[in-house]
Amino acid sequence: MSNGASPRRTPIVAGNWKMHYGPSEAQAFAESILADLNAVQGVERVLCPPAISIAAVHNVVSGSEVTLGAQNMYFEEKGAYTGEISPLMLRGLCEYVILGHSERRGYFGETDELVNKKALSAFAHGLKPIVCVGERLEDRDAGLTERVITEQVRGSLANLPAEQVAGLVVAYEPIWAIGTGRAAHAKDAADVVAIIRALLAEMYGEAAAQAVRVQYGGSVTAANIAEFAAVPDIDGALVGGASLKGEFVDICRRTAEVKGTGS
Ligand code: PEP
Repeated sequence: MSNGASPRRTPIVAGNWKMHYGPSEAQAFAESILADLNAVQGVERVLCPPAISIAAVHNVVSGSEVTLGAQNMYFEEKGAYTGEISPLMLRGLCEYVILGHSERRGYFGETDELVNKKALSAFAHGLKPIVCVGERLEDRDAGLTERVITEQVRGSLANLPAEQVAGLVVAYEPIWAIGTGRAAHAKDAADVVAIIRALLAEMYGEAAAQAVRVQYGGSVTAANIAEFAAVPDIDGALVGGASLKGEFVDICRRTAEVKGTGS
């Protein structure tokens, strides 16, 4: 078993397509990678298309081992919430939902309190949240990383149902590393992931904290994924730009190789 092995947790790599690929492009791209992606073993592979393309990609991946995630959702089931997507609409199509991505927090004013409501609603409707946390460059430079992460974890992940916490995925995504080509150093990411796991242990107990998967996200590529996957506490990646290409398959494959979970 290699250095990066975390025998208790199945690694998970999710591709966040952001606002790319409408239904027909999404279908064509998913078709182009499906056979290779499905053949990768020992890592959960999750595609997160824009909401309007989820159904098209669902048709492509159904019957395969590849699962889907949404990029966001509202916490209510239905009602007068123009433009929003509800957990009831995602259920049956998606297994995961990304919540509190820094672009949602930054451009759309999402707070820890709102992210927490969404996470509670996701669990209540059988969806597993991938909750994103991460500091700004100013925070890191000012030595505030631990404080910011602590506030986000405590706020976004409060009061989760104890029996479902093990299904939670947390993505540590330093904001300065997202879409910049400037990934964090694996050692720095490992330090923050250790803080996240220690907080989860305080909140939900050691066993639950050890079961939660914590991903790294921020300029992950096929060339640098091995550094992150080699950290036992990092259970995979949330991938933006590189998930729009066949490179995503290489990232999944490399994760399984380094973790020693592939066949
Ligand atoms: C992301 O969108 O979550 C992300 C990490 O993007 P990128 O990989 O492009 O930095």
